[in-house]
Amino acid sequence: MKITDVQTAVIEGNFDWVLVRITTDEGVTGLGEAYWGAGVEELIHKMRPILIGQNGFDIGRLYEKMIRGMSGAGSLAGATVTAISGVELALWDLVARKLNTPIYNLFGGRFRDKIRIYADCHHGDEPTPESCAERARAVASEGFTAIKFDLDAKNPYTRDISDDPDQRRSWYEPYNRTIGSIEREYMINVVAAVRDAVGPEMMLAMDCHWKFATSDVIQLAKGLEKYDLLWLEDPIPPENIDAQLKVTQATSTPICTGENLYRKHGFRDLIEKQAADIIAPDIPKMGGLMEAKKVADHADMYYIPVAPHNVASPVGTVASAHVCAAMQNFLVMEYHAIDVPWWSDLVTGDPVIKDGFIWLEDKPGHGLELNEDVARAHLKPGCSFFGE
Ligand code: MG
Repeated sequence: MKITDVQTAVIEGNFDWVLVRITTDEGVTGLGEAYWGAGVEELIHKMRPILIGQNGFDIGRLYEKMIRGMSGAGSLAGATVTAISGVELALWDLVARKLNTPIYNLFGGRFRDKIRIYADCHHGDEPTPESCAERARAVASEGFTAIKFDLDAKNPYTRDISDDPDQRRSWYEPYNRTIGSIEREYMINVVAAVRDAVGPEMMLAMDCHWKFATSDVIQLAKGLEKYDLLWLEDPIPPENIDAQLKVTQATSTPICTGENLYRKHGFRDLIEKQAADIIAPDIPKMGGLMEAKKVADHADMYYIPVAPHNVASPVGTVASAHVCAAMQNFLVMEYHAIDVPWWSDLVTGDPVIKDGFIWLEDKPGHGLELNEDVARAHLKPGCSFFGE
């Protein structure tokens, strides 16, 4: 089964969804997706000479060829790995369709028939306890059993350096700020209000987007212990694993991180030092399905659950769900598009998420067919539609 072409289409959703289509001389095609990012589409096109003419079954070898061909051995991070991830997802879909079996069967089969999804609720219209509670109730009524809010969002009591309310606590601001006692109390009140709104059984996570200093966030995490969070995410910047370990060991609030780590090598220290209670690889970004399975198996030896970060279209989301089905230590996967009403329409058939779960089917590959009318309607201006 020789690869004859690799093409892309960038769809404008709440992020740029970089779809990858691989065609072969046997008429079978694979559809994948890479995480958004500058240059990712161009990098995929640069890999065409590495892939065209090769046997589509040889995913492991092709993966290493892409790593070495794009920036040499030891390429561990960044847009190159993201581009390779999109190709890798398409290759698994291709091979599974050729074998007429779902992707999860190529990773050892299913531990579960449905994949629990958590809805990222961001912070509602306003980041107030009342607004977050209202948002939580609305999302819970859609059947979700797990939700997440931004705890760092535009807190009115922050000691922020910016007077621009749109800049305060935005995700790209630098981290180096203290949490004052009033600000901390406000954040705890947000969590208390949401917990009160949804009850004790709802899985409730909170995201800090790498904003805080170690000692400040330990105080915050301790203050949140009685609210039984599923996790507190990215409390401090991600680079220093020892600082991460210090936070994790200081509180019974579970600490989650990992959405900015790449490949199995990027997760090695975090896992082996047990510096997080839960890890959050972004599968269409960090290296793809097989790399994510390797990371999950590594984490499983330390009894660390896996809760993939995910901002993908249905294509990347469902492809990731297939490998999550094969992970013993899978916990829950993110859904970031609750405010994109046409998210599910990008593919044909029933809604992708029903009652807060992706129900795995037994169709070949990831089982999705692109709704080309919807895809074309949201095609990023200036981008080709798979080479057209
Ligand atoms: Mg996050």
